Amino acid sequence: MAIIRVPRPPRDTNVFAAAWGYTTTICTGLTLTLTIFFRQLLKREKSETVEWPEQPATYGERFKGKHFLTKREDGQVRCTACFLCATACPAQCIHIEAGQHPSNEIEKFPVRFEIDILRCVFCGYCEEACPVDAIRLGPEYAIVDTSEKKWVYTKDYLADRPALQGGIHSIKPENEKHTSIGHEPTAGERKSQAHHGHS
Ligand code: SF4
Ligand code: SF4
Repeated sequence: MAIIRVPRPPRDTNVFAAAWGYTTTICTGLTLTLTIFFRQLLKREKSETVEWPEQPATYGERFKGKHFLTKREDGQVRCTACFLCATACPAQCIHIEAGQHPSNEIEKFPVRFEIDILRCVFCGYCEEACPVDAIRLGPEYAIVDTSEKKWVYTKDYLADRPALQGGIHSIKPENEKHTSIGHEPTAGERKSQAHHGHS
């Protein structure tokens, strides 16, 4: 096999030009930083820094924060334990245990519904996959806790935590089952989605 010898690149002998370029660039950057710093210090320019948690952060309507489960009119969770969200979840962090519902109108319900939030990547696929608007990612962005157990969101927490103020109702009619896959939301449903921060 022929060996191709590649010549060394010529040395940059103009060290002074390189040093000058480096110094002027650093000085330009520092001048800009210090100008903004003093303008904001002297209140001549508004600071963009949000002093969280005293000052709440604002996100767009499409922000995907903490999950919640929606409810039926009677207060039960809307979820029918179809496993579509768990199947769509790329992080495999949704764990559902289905049970037979005592009512003939409702085929199944989740006896256990848990999300291991430390594995979640907040992609929203679960929300997209759900045919009955039973799971959504809401606007809550503060996700902090101290114990490992609290990072697994249980069914009760997902449906009834204080921030949900008694729970949020699904926009899908009670008798609507999984025939609604591919169903385009009506204008009224879109309005309700916007009201609840649904993206
Ligand atoms: S947001 Fe994405 S990663 Fe998180 S539970 Fe839903 S599907 Fe899974
Ligand atoms: S896709 Fe919706 S109805 Fe089906 S298990 Fe998930 S949350 Fe429940």
